[in-house]
Order: sequence, then C-alpha cells, then structure tokens
Amino acid sequence: MSDAHWPAPPSGSCPLPAALEVEVAILGAGIHGAALARELTLRGVSCALVDRGEVGGGTSQWSSQLLHGGIRYLLTGDIRQMREGLVERATWARIAPRRCRWEAFWMPHRFWAEGLAHRFGIGLYDHWGAERPGWPPELALGHVPPAAFAADPRSAGGPFRGATAYADLITWDRDLTRDLAASSQARVLDFHEPERFEEGEGGLKALTLRDRRDGTLRRLAARRWVFALGPWTDGALSRWFGETRQRLRLSSGIHLWFDPVPGCERPWAIRRPKGRILFVIPRDGLLQAGTTEREVEVGWAPIVASEREELFQALEANLPAVPWRQLPIRSEESGVRPLLAAGGATSHLSREAVLEKHGRFPNLTLVLGGKLTTARALMDRLATELTGSRCEASVTEPLSLWDGHPAQIR
Ligand SMILES: Cc1cc2nc3c(=O)[nH]c(=O)nc-3n(C[C@H](O)[C@H](O)[C@H](O)COP(=O)(O)OP(=O)(O)OC[C@H]3O[C@@H](n4cnc5c(N)ncnc54)[C@H](O)[C@@H]3O)c2cc1C
Repeated sequence: MSDAHWPAPPSGSCPLPAALEVEVAILGAGIHGAALARELTLRGVSCALVDRGEVGGGTSQWSSQLLHGGIRYLLTGDIRQMREGLVERATWARIAPRRCRWEAFWMPHRFWAEGLAHRFGIGLYDHWGAERPGWPPELALGHVPPAAFAADPRSAGGPFRGATAYADLITWDRDLTRDLAASSQARVLDFHEPERFEEGEGGLKALTLRDRRDGTLRRLAARRWVFALGPWTDGALSRWFGETRQRLRLSSGIHLWFDPVPGCERPWAIRRPKGRILFVIPRDGLLQAGTTEREVEVGWAPIVASEREELFQALEANLPAVPWRQLPIRSEESGVRPLLAAGGATSHLSREAVLEKHGRFPNLTLVLGGKLTTARALMDRLATELTGSRCEASVTEPLSLWDGHPAQIR
C-alpha cells in the first residue's frame, strides 16, 4: 500500500518480541480499538492493539470533539440514538472528567416560532440528558437573555433574533483515545503494517506484521480478531481478502481553526438544511468552525477548495458581522466519517455503529460506523460477547491519562 498519506514512523525500534500470542487481536487503534482494549483488560483478557500509524492517529483525531446525544437527531427523529448518546455522555463525564468539559451551547433562532420549537426540543434533550456529572452551576441553560445574546458579535446583522442554550460535552478526541489505550494492558503494535494472514480451522490464526520503523517482521497469533479500521475497512478487506462488498459510505467533514474573536464566549450550534449543524466553538484559545459533508472514496481526504468555500459561505450567511475571510486560520483539518452504507444520499446515512460477524472467518468481528460518543458502549457490548462476562467497572473506572497530565482546560 502507498505510504503517501500515512504519517512517517518515528525513528527507533519496537521492544516487542518477534512472536506474540494473545486472546484477541485488534486491528485499528482509533477510539473503537482503544476502547475495546480497555474493556478486555478490565475483564482480564489479553489483547494486542495494532495500527499502521499511531494510536488515535486516524478519524478519531479529526472529529468535532463532542460527546453528545446529537441534537440533530431531534430533527431526524432518531430518538433512540439520541438517548443512547445522552447516557454515554454522562458515562464519559464520570470516567474521563479531565478529558471533558461541559458547555452551554447556544442554538440561535430566526423567528419567534422557531425559537419556541427550539425551546421545546432542547427542553426534551436536556430533560433526557439530565444526568450531567460535574456540571458547572454557573452555566445557564434554556432561554438566553436578550442582552447576553446581543453582546455576542455573532448576533449582529445576521438572521438570528435570539437563542436557546443546551448542554453538551466537549472533549479532546485524540487524547481520549490514547487514554483508553493507556487504560489497557494491550500489547501495542503501532506503526505496524499487516502483511500476510494465516488461516486455520476456526478462521484467522495469525498475522505477519512489518514494523514500519525498521522493517522487523513480527508474528501475531490470536484466537479472536476484531477489525476496527474506521473508514479504511472496505479498502483493507479488499486488499487482504479480495472482498468487493462495500459496507461503508465515506463522508468527509472539515474544521477551520481561526484566531479567537473577542466576545465569542459560548459555542454556537446553527441548524442548516438536511439536518446538518454548523458549529462555531471557542476552545483552546481558538475558534473552531465546521463541519461540512462530502462523499469521498478513501479514508484520507484532503480539503478541497469548494469545501472550504462552502464553510465560509455558511459562516458569512449566518454570522455576517465577523470578517471570516480576514481572520487568520491557525489550522484546518479534514476527517472521514465511516457511515453505514444504507444507500441514498450521504446526509441520510446512519451514524449508528454495527458489529458484523465476518462470513468467511467465524472468529473475526468487524466494527462498522459509529461515533466517539458511543464507542465505549459498543466495545463494552463486544467485549461481553467475546468473553461471556459483563463488566460493571467499564462505566465507573476512571481512565488513566496517557501523558500523565490533564488536558489544557481553559
Ligand atoms: C468531521 C467529523 C466530525 C465528527 N464529529 C464527531 C463528534 O463530534 N462526536 C462523535 O461522537 N463522533 C464524531 N465523529 C465520528 C467519529 O470521529 C468517528 O466515528 C470515530 O472517530 C471512528 O473511530 P474508529 O476507531 O472507528 O476509526 P479511526 O479513528 O479512523 O481508527 C481506525 C484506525 O485504523 C488504522 N488503520 C487503517 N488502516 C489500517 C491497516 N491497514 N492496518 C492497521 N491499521 C489500520 C488507522 O490508522 C486508524 O488509527 C466525527 C467524524 C468526522 C469525520
């Protein structure tokens, strides 16, 4: 496979031996793979976490970094997904309090009746999401006082007449993924390229891996296998096993990180057509704006000019008082969502995740689709299926911090 898009490996070598044997081999060290490693460790089951790049170096570092019920599901009517997300949001606040921060998001409205509809929908959202461990009492929800709304530069000259505040959790996605891996005792084989699988009677038996750092070959044997390869799943299955079935549809989204704008204190979530949300979030000393949706073919999707332009136009149409094109852009990023291929337009594809038993290899499970928010719950379920044992500690045991420090919380 071409190395063009993959981050170059660091220098040095991996201390692991040339042959390893574990109970479960996990390919893909994004939020799903890392969460599964923690679940297995909590159940006392050995595992290896393999990645072609580094832990948390794929889609799980390019998300909007929200642990949420998905306010958009109020519009699409997927209440079950929303309520699952709200339960999980509370779980993250409990197990990762130093990688999360509660926020009062403002959803602006254009006219009175829209404001009333927001008040009703958001009322339900905050009612169902009433479990908010560590909620800072100074954050106010519900109707935003007109003076506070008017004081925000984003309200000037635009289509909005007021706003309603709702609760959600902001995280640091890559750190959260690394914390999950650090909370496991997985043998971590990062920067390892899968080269050749061995098959046995029960399915997959072993995998030869090439260490991209120094070319060393390692053999990994396991009884069970899980592929959590995010948007790279279809490509990998085609390359490794000649499969042609397309399980996922890929949709890229971008974020632009601007210099901070004085007076923009609260994150805004602006409703757009087709159930999409435009986020404008002050965080980490910058202003994050995104996202868009564009169907793409591969897991690496560089930002195209039309995508950036679409985001600028949305910002200008909704928040015209801010000189968006003159603000310095500190960084920009593009991530690819692995969505379930249910057919139809990308905007209607499901954000839901599915565990698929592989047809040819009975000891292989594929993790398809999903979100940061629900990754722990899904991997809890998978670990229970794989090991036959439930684990209450999964929702209470605090995560270790991979760097030994809390994130930079403002
Ligand atoms: C723009 C955007 C915004 C989003 N916002 C949110 C949000 O606010 N909240 C939320 O809950 N979710 C959000 N999501 C969804 C969420 O980010 C993803 O669903 C999630 O990160 C997917 O995690 P994963 O572990 O499945 O995949 P990944 O994080 O992509 O992990 C897959 C791993 O597999 C590795 N890999 C690939 N090929 C190989 C190979 N051949 N061999 C070995 N390893 C390989 C990759 O290096 C990668 O590390 C967003 C997604 C996007 C794109």
